[in-house]
Amino acid sequence: MTVRVRFAPSPTGFMHLGNARTALFNWLFARHHGGEFVLRIEDTDRTRHTEAAVQVIYDTLKWMGLDWDGPVLRQSERIDIYHQVAEKLIAEGKAYRCVCTKEELEAKKAAMKDTAHHACYDGTCRDKNLGPDCGPHVVRFRMPKEGVSMFDDMVQGHIEKNYADLDDFIMVRTDGMPTYQFAVVVDDLALKITHVIRGCDHIDNTHDQIALYKALGAEPPKFGHAPRILGLSKRKGSPSVEYYREAFGLLPQGLNNYIARLGWSHGDDEIFTMDELVKAFDITGVNQANGNFDEDKLKWVNEQQIHITSADVLADHVIPIFASRGVNVEKGEFLNKLLEMMRERAHNLNEIVDQSMFVFKAPESYDEKSVKKNFNADTENLLNEFADKLEASSTWDNDSIDKAIKDVIEPRELKLGKLAQPIRIALVGIAQSPGIHETIWFVGKDECIRRLRAAAKYAASIQAQA
Ligand code: GLU
Repeated sequence: MTVRVRFAPSPTGFMHLGNARTALFNWLFARHHGGEFVLRIEDTDRTRHTEAAVQVIYDTLKWMGLDWDGPVLRQSERIDIYHQVAEKLIAEGKAYRCVCTKEELEAKKAAMKDTAHHACYDGTCRDKNLGPDCGPHVVRFRMPKEGVSMFDDMVQGHIEKNYADLDDFIMVRTDGMPTYQFAVVVDDLALKITHVIRGCDHIDNTHDQIALYKALGAEPPKFGHAPRILGLSKRKGSPSVEYYREAFGLLPQGLNNYIARLGWSHGDDEIFTMDELVKAFDITGVNQANGNFDEDKLKWVNEQQIHITSADVLADHVIPIFASRGVNVEKGEFLNKLLEMMRERAHNLNEIVDQSMFVFKAPESYDEKSVKKNFNADTENLLNEFADKLEASSTWDNDSIDKAIKDVIEPRELKLGKLAQPIRIALVGIAQSPGIHETIWFVGKDECIRRLRAAAKYAASIQAQA
């Protein structure tokens, strides 16, 4: 049997972290078993869903590195198929048309509110055998009324519920659109899904769905319901992948690693590459208890992932962040070198970009505190002289930069910092940067000289004012 799982999001316009984890668990399960991971878009609610929202799903899955197999299934393109299945079930007496109006149903529910089955349809149309010309109607499933519905959940264990507590749920609405409950079974059967892994908010739905499989004479897939992620509040921003990705400067592997471990454990291991996750992931290792979302842990895991990710891969993720800050950066050896240096210092991708900005952009202003502390009457000369030394040198490497520095500080008997800090202010705008040699090298010779001369001028101007 080939393992086939699916991820079936509704296009809401953003990817909730809980949904992202459902996608990840399914993908890991498929890859672990050498099976297939199918993507289905549950887009039957035409009034709510837009193509931009569908694109968010594609973009987020691609960013997370969760590639899907085969074509994407769109429920909105399968309406005729749902109707055919509904007709078949009606013909076999396993479903029926119901003409009860919303108002009638609400009145009945209110009257029954103190009885045990007040939430269930009272069965008014169940045995009326209404035909297609009965007027505006829904199609309901004829739920067996006796016995116990049960299944063994791969995560939650044995689960059961009395059929008497299950509703004759609606399969097709008055407007002809299928409900989630109905379409999900028709599609999972069509896609030959072997395992359904999803959030535990769907546990109750599973009884309805298994009853439908039985009515269709089909074997239900195995189910595994993952626990909830608690503590994701709107107050902190949107609980979406897009929000955390941007606000926390996440590497996809940082997010994947964190959300995989949130609800699944593998001994005390914390940091996993994607290959390690695929190898280790076991659905029976998913916790039953809900997990608490912990921002600090997410930040920590992301940082660990940044440290072990190759500069080449980091480049793919920082280039768009540079672009969003208006700076065009190209992939290549230079950027890789820069990233190798910066990833040791930075906690996330945003910091890498922010702290690397000086390489591509001259400072627009100088930090007041840094200037006050490090500029004096000699600064103009010092910076100009250093610029002269760089200009005179015919090579551009660590040795030539070091020689230029020494040629300025040694005759004056200055400590390195007395020159390095003014240089940092000139090149970065603030007296903070990586090692002075690297800072100079990354800015490049001509640009370095330009910035040194500009800062020398500035130093002169503030001296004149003083
Ligand atoms: N569209 C449903 C959801 O996003 C799918 C649930 C399922 O996997 O069956 O919750």
